Amino acid sequence: MKTATCAIVGAGLAGLSAAEAIRAEGFDGRVLLFGDEPELPYERPPLSKEFLRGEVESDRVPLRAPAFYAEHRIEVHMRTRVAHVDVQRRTLEAGKELYTYDKLLLATGASPRRLPVAGSDLPGVHYLRTLHDASVLRWALNSRPRVLAVGAGFIGCEIAASARAVGCNVVLLDQILPMERALGPEVGEIYARYHRDRGVTVKSGVVVTEFRGASRLEEALLSDGTTVACDLAVVGIGVTPNVSILPSELKTGDGVETDEFCRTEVDDVFAAGDVARSRRPRLGRSIRLEHFENAELQGTAAGRAMCGKLDPYDPIPFFWSYQYDLDLQYYGVAIEWERVVLRGRPDEGSFTAFYLDSERLEAACLVNRSRDASAIKRLIGQKSLAIELLGDDSVPLRNLELTGASVRQ
Ligand code: FAD
Ligand code: NAP
Repeated sequence: MKTATCAIVGAGLAGLSAAEAIRAEGFDGRVLLFGDEPELPYERPPLSKEFLRGEVESDRVPLRAPAFYAEHRIEVHMRTRVAHVDVQRRTLEAGKELYTYDKLLLATGASPRRLPVAGSDLPGVHYLRTLHDASVLRWALNSRPRVLAVGAGFIGCEIAASARAVGCNVVLLDQILPMERALGPEVGEIYARYHRDRGVTVKSGVVVTEFRGASRLEEALLSDGTTVACDLAVVGIGVTPNVSILPSELKTGDGVETDEFCRTEVDDVFAAGDVARSRRPRLGRSIRLEHFENAELQGTAAGRAMCGKLDPYDPIPFFWSYQYDLDLQYYGVAIEWERVVLRGRPDEGSFTAFYLDSERLEAACLVNRSRDASAIKRLIGQKSLAIELLGDDSVPLRNLELTGASVRQ
């Protein structure tokens, strides 16, 4: 009898979580895990934080010990790019070999968007996605270069904080305020102030139009005609999902479309993690998330679905970011919102921002307020809240939920 095979393309967090879940479900066939990086699956979050600052070594980032793969009979093929997938024949080409599969998971993640300006190939211009990128960057920071962070999203802000922590001069620039796209101008302004107070030059409303230097990076020309002298630039202007190997049968507008069971439109082909744009019943729409917890939990859900365990994947989304002494935790998803209510003491680095749309609490961003996380998770998605009290730090969060009896007429 032919042995059944589950194949996973992409040995990141989503791929690993799926492989582990497949075995946990008792699947006894072959589990193949293909990854084009040299290292076994590892954590990316430390790469812009502790690892970059030299506080932890690369042996702290693997997600599982090497023995785990043999113990779980997961056939890992690292340094192996899957070049082609044929969903009709159920085959994939990797490292000049042809493999057949019964179930396939696409967990190919995402890659940094490139900045298409003159001089972007000069030595000194960096991107950050992989352990290799982070190792090169960490080494480069040893000489305390003048750093330019291009893009004030998560990468740019975390790099600015880490580079400051090791003593570099840092400029952080974007068209918008720090993390404004995800967190709004109110929180963006608070973070801009926090970065400035710690010595970072924050420039908003500008983009880089050219990198210049005789043989390596010396300065960046900005859209307002000014220049920034810098020895090192890190470009963090977002990512694009890795869909180039996907067959035409799979929709690839912005990642791979799936339903809430991680299933694509092609039978027995699943997707999870940064590459998946998935139906979320809670939100009433599809969304692609680029965060650690989503990759882990959705990978697990996909592995279970590949074994026939169909539970809708629909948790309250969550991510975190650490910058300086600010521990940020974000619950929910707010893409558009009508208003933001701030609670707490932003000037002291302890506050929560609530994102409301049509009086419904879509999301909350907690900064140094992890103690409120469970109460806030209960409030996400609710419409019956005492909104006028949300901003009042003296009112316990549990009192904000309106029960039938306490709703004022
Ligand atoms: P990936 O981690 O991208 O893994 C996909 C893997 O598949 C990659 O190794 C890729 O090279 C490989 N691959 C792609 N195509 C092929 C192919 N054809 N053949 C073989 N292999 C292939 N999130 C948070 O919530 N909090 C944080 O603090 C945080 N910090 C971060 C810091 C950094 C520097 C980065 C880069 C990300 C951070 N994230 C954070 C985001 C989080 O790490 C990602 O959302 C998560 O890693 C996504 O996992 P994934 O498995 O979907 O994709
Ligand atoms: P990001 O968070 O999407 O932010 C990109 C930023 O760059 C946005 O503010 C964007 O503005 C801006 N931008 C776009 N084009 C620009 C240009 N030409 N010049 C200057 N700014 C420009 O992406 P990222 O910071 O690059 O992070 C990459 C990935 O890593 C993401 O998936 C992110 O979620 C993940 N990551 C997550 C964390 C975390 O969760 N803590 C930490 C690090 C990395 P517009 O929106 O206006 O285009």
